[in-house]
Amino acid sequence: MKDSAPQTVYLADYAAPGWLVDSVHLTFRLDPETTRVVSRIAFRPNPEGTQDRFYLDGENLKLIGATIDGQPVTPEITATGLTCPVPDGPFVWEADVEIAPAANTALDGLYMSGGMYCTQCEAEGFRKITYYPDRPDVMGIFSVRIEGDMPVLLSNGNPVASGDGWAEWHDPWPKPAYLFALVAGDLVAHSDRFTTTEGRDVALNIWVRPGDLDKCAFGMAALKASMVWDEQVYGRAYDLDLFNIVAVDDFNMGAMENKGLNIFNSSCVLAKSDTSTDADFERIEAIIAHEYFHNWTGNRITCRDWFQLCLKEGLTVFRDQTFTGDLRGHAVKRIDDALTLRARQFREDAGPLAHPVRPASFVEINNFYTATVYEKGAELVGMLKRLVGDDGYRAALTLYFDRHDGQAATIEDWLQCFTDATGRDLTQFALWYAQAGTPQITVTDDFVDGTYHLTLAQMTPPTPGQPDKQPLHIPVAVGLLAPDGSEVVPTRMLEMTQARQTYTFADLAARPIPSVLRDFSAPVILNHTQSAADRGVLLAHDSDPFNRWEAGRMLARDVLLAAVRDGKAPDPAYLDGLRATLTDDQLHPAFRARILALPSEQDVADALVRAGETPDPERIHSARRQVRQAIATALDAQMDAVFATMQVPGPYDPRAEDAGRRTLSNTVLSYLTLLDAGHRAAAQYEGADNMTQQIAALDCLLDIGAGQEALAAFRAQWQGDRLVMDKWFGLQIARSDPAETVTRAESLTRDPAFDWKNPNRFRSVFGALAGHMAGFHRQDGAGYDLLADWLIKLDPLNPQTTARMVTAFDAMARYDATRQELMRAALTRIARTPNLSRDTTEMVARILG
Ligand SMILES: [Zn+2]
Repeated sequence: MKDSAPQTVYLADYAAPGWLVDSVHLTFRLDPETTRVVSRIAFRPNPEGTQDRFYLDGENLKLIGATIDGQPVTPEITATGLTCPVPDGPFVWEADVEIAPAANTALDGLYMSGGMYCTQCEAEGFRKITYYPDRPDVMGIFSVRIEGDMPVLLSNGNPVASGDGWAEWHDPWPKPAYLFALVAGDLVAHSDRFTTTEGRDVALNIWVRPGDLDKCAFGMAALKASMVWDEQVYGRAYDLDLFNIVAVDDFNMGAMENKGLNIFNSSCVLAKSDTSTDADFERIEAIIAHEYFHNWTGNRITCRDWFQLCLKEGLTVFRDQTFTGDLRGHAVKRIDDALTLRARQFREDAGPLAHPVRPASFVEINNFYTATVYEKGAELVGMLKRLVGDDGYRAALTLYFDRHDGQAATIEDWLQCFTDATGRDLTQFALWYAQAGTPQITVTDDFVDGTYHLTLAQMTPPTPGQPDKQPLHIPVAVGLLAPDGSEVVPTRMLEMTQARQTYTFADLAARPIPSVLRDFSAPVILNHTQSAADRGVLLAHDSDPFNRWEAGRMLARDVLLAAVRDGKAPDPAYLDGLRATLTDDQLHPAFRARILALPSEQDVADALVRAGETPDPERIHSARRQVRQAIATALDAQMDAVFATMQVPGPYDPRAEDAGRRTLSNTVLSYLTLLDAGHRAAAQYEGADNMTQQIAALDCLLDIGAGQEALAAFRAQWQGDRLVMDKWFGLQIARSDPAETVTRAESLTRDPAFDWKNPNRFRSVFGALAGHMAGFHRQDGAGYDLLADWLIKLDPLNPQTTARMVTAFDAMARYDATRQELMRAALTRIARTPNLSRDTTEMVARILG
């Protein structure tokens, strides 16, 4: 055995595989304690290979025996793989290994969840199933035989044959090992069919535990809508006779796009009106679409190596965002995506974990399934589309599919398709993939004799390992409004390529009001000082819905900052603007709800940090409450009227129209509850016939310190539903008074229903704790200690989830010296834990610097 000390892997060290795989035959003899995996793999030397030693990855495997071309061999085995002398030409490798699925608590490889067998192989889980070149650029044709006493035995591709206690599968499409999947369990299917544009009749199944069969209809409808959309918008049809989705309770991620056999965290597929909120329905629809879209962007064209992860994830997120926009409205979707990006990715970029969309190195690839790779990766695709136009984008994507189908590609391959299809030079744009950090654009302007000059200056702050940044190629969409709010210059796409550029607009009658970065045309922070009056005009009149919302957002931010800094009451002009928006029936209710929702406490902290100040979480919490109270008092009558008119009659429908009305009525309810001692919320709770209304009412009640009775009733009603109980755990922490957040979380860890080994349940408590800024950052450090205790406890069982939750500490540097000291102590305590996983070790080290 060799020492397996964590090693850093570098993009620059990429070496083409020395051997390629033609076919893989796997036989599984399932048993919880000792599963046997027999593999027969046909290898041939890769003429372009740059590795001269035959090497197979393998971890936690017991090798029973191995042969090459039928002759027994004795490989040299290490903790991470094996080597063996091999013939010069093609050969057949056979191995018999033993693994223990029931002992696999990391939920990576083959493991058990609630009595069923399932797999998770991305990124490097297959090496825990058998010895294999576990890298995405080795693609093979898989045939699988499963033997086990489970009624349902599933793998990738199409079914070949089956009998009592066995089933055989064949996947005709070559794939890397990370797309392998196997499921065996006592499952039932919600089934349907779909005929593709190419005339293929596809059987569709969503496999669940018997009690969940009534929660599959929505997911099935979302799957069919995704299949239609990908045919119509991208010209991509499905390519097997069968598409299976399986819901699994114990799952580290949201879902996984295994070829023909997607495996989902049950929270991301099961939906029913009395147990799922509007937000759940929208999220489930998007995740089903995302995983389905991977069939082309990820599976048919995969990544050469894990540094190219954004190639499949950024593009597929962009595709699912567009899909949701098409179904539910682009304006609100763009706002929600910008909110997510700012809350997750901009914060990641601002801290010690900042990394490029395509990182240059990693220790544990599981730590790079990040907002930067996914969400910023999607923004890069959106910018490319803006730069080349809709037709150029379509041509580039068609070329990409034609040229790289069946291949493992790189970002360079991807950008080359855009250049070849449109003639655009994207050399400078490629920097977006390599340079970390959120660019800031500072706007200045002047107006002389009818000519308006708009000057944009870009700057990307230093990030770990990248002190000096170069100017980026940035599309900045700009329009100009006259002082009366009419549009004098419609949207123009300005392309920044230098550090500082001035754009000229001639023949204007009056000094215009600029609307900059329309539709959030680039993932940047805009430093643009505008008067409250100009922002008021944009809020009332901007033809670009995103910037209309953004103007209101900036006004709200300034109101909150004034409240935090000086205890100031909201500016009456801001309240007038809100009132006008709230009562404007021409605006979509969901859009009005987005304008009424204040920036979060974290958003206020971000703004203070950018202004060079140290945020005080408790002060931000109380100042924001004061502002909410003032808004409620000022808009009481209008809110009361809107609350009444936005009630949705008739049976529940999760689609955007009704969901938008509920969003607005519940946003208004959260304000009204501050004035009516919870009367309306209590009535809504009593009368609710769907989860959206029920939990919104409970949320409002908890927010004013009431709702303990409702909380008990909620538990009594839903204790048999694990997904709803996750909400019960999370909500009471999220809505607790900051002084009680930690004790509430701590007492919930002693609840008999707190199954801490289940990632969803763990996150429902500790994700809510870490997300409660004022509660988590309690001055005595009790929040840090509680989280550290539990991460130390979870790490030996589930390194992936532990490492991901360590990021709760990544904002350390923005707080005062006392809090920094306490966070550092908690992290150091985690770091010193004996046998800490590679995942968590890497994350703690990066945060501690
Ligand atoms: Zn994905």
